[in-house]
Amino acid sequence: MNRKFGIKLDNIDFCIVGGGIVGLSVAYVLGQNGYQGAVLEGGPYFGDQSTGRNSGVLHAGLYYPKNSLKHLTCIDGNLLWRHWAQILRIPLNPCGKFVVARDSEERDTLDALYLRAQSNGVASVSWANRKNLEALSHFVKVDQAFFSGNSGVIDVPAAVTALRRQVESLGFLTLVNHIVQAIKPLGNEHVVSLKEGEIKARFVINCAGHGAVSLRRQLGLTELSPVMVKGTYLRLTKKLRHPWLIYPLPGKDGLGLGIHNVLEVDGALKFGPDTEPCENLDYQISQIAIDRIRESVHSFFYGIKPEELQPDLSGIRSRLLYNGEPYHDFWLKGPQDHQIPGYIELCGIDSPGLTAAPALANRVLRIVRSELEND
Ligand SMILES: Cc1cc2nc3c(=O)[nH]c(=O)nc-3n(C[C@H](O)[C@H](O)[C@H](O)COP(=O)(O)OP(=O)(O)OC[C@H]3O[C@@H](n4cnc5c(N)ncnc54)[C@H](O)[C@@H]3O)c2cc1C
Repeated sequence: MNRKFGIKLDNIDFCIVGGGIVGLSVAYVLGQNGYQGAVLEGGPYFGDQSTGRNSGVLHAGLYYPKNSLKHLTCIDGNLLWRHWAQILRIPLNPCGKFVVARDSEERDTLDALYLRAQSNGVASVSWANRKNLEALSHFVKVDQAFFSGNSGVIDVPAAVTALRRQVESLGFLTLVNHIVQAIKPLGNEHVVSLKEGEIKARFVINCAGHGAVSLRRQLGLTELSPVMVKGTYLRLTKKLRHPWLIYPLPGKDGLGLGIHNVLEVDGALKFGPDTEPCENLDYQISQIAIDRIRESVHSFFYGIKPEELQPDLSGIRSRLLYNGEPYHDFWLKGPQDHQIPGYIELCGIDSPGLTAAPALANRVLRIVRSELEND
């Protein structure tokens, strides 16, 4: 017994670093397969960083290069969330989404996105017919559009609560305010250092979001650098009902999917996120971001005055440079990649990481199994 932790935590099988949606999904999948350990969250709450600061959209897999990890885990994760939502009673709004070309100049880009969706094998994608376009024209400026029936919205706080509860009932300890300071391999194990003391773990799974790259550096893995891109949301102060998600075409900077409507579970409407490179985990909302989003909403959505949009919250996307060059995919590596037994890492999990989390967790399980077979 390690008295400093007040619980039996000196020697465990699995130490999951980070209590966002990825860490919790990994713990859930491992727990369902009979494995046990601890999830260590450095902050005061689970799911308080990127996980609690996004659009809550279950993406369908339209946007990502074919066969990239983003493409494959987005499609699998979307399906798995529908199952998890049912068994864990997580509210999910299967509203679908329209992707819209505002004028004829945007048609080629919309066509290209539609073709990518088809080539990616995304189900339930169809061009808007005349009736759809008429319905859409009550909400936005539209020239042409397609509908993605597999896109939807999930109640993220409910998902975090449900997963944490499940993970605990499957035998995992979940601790907040436990910042992992260092990970050191020791024989076939790892020593995980915290302010409260040390833990020995057979497997360490680095799901630390914005903290993931600095942890891996301590293991001598230096080819990645973190990049942060902030996204702000504004809340609509009046009641208005939008039946679907409505997205413009993605921004040319490749950093975001375009400022869209966000359908909250309670029926409230938000708009965002914009894209703004940033240096620190600073969630303050600038006037520049407010003006940018108001302007963008005004030029696309009907019936919304700029002053009816007020600051809500911001999130920060976790992206990567690989040897100094932008790296656009998720980074999921195990011992076969970096030759450190029992260490698995997930870095650069930006959008669609919420959607992909269950599928990423299944991939972690596969790595664990193959590592155990080689023991
Ligand atoms: C603006 C925005 C919009 C987005 N929209 C969508 C969307 O609509 N759909 C979608 O699928 N995805 C979306 N995403 C992406 C999605 O939010 C992320 O991919 C997902 O939340 C990543 O989860 P995570 O668990 O990896 O990271 P996080 O939620 O950031 O969790 C990592 C956790 O690790 C903890 N931690 C860090 N360092 C340490 C340490 N040393 N010790 C212990 N704990 C530590 C942190 O406190 C944090 O809680 C969006 C992201 C942003 C920012």
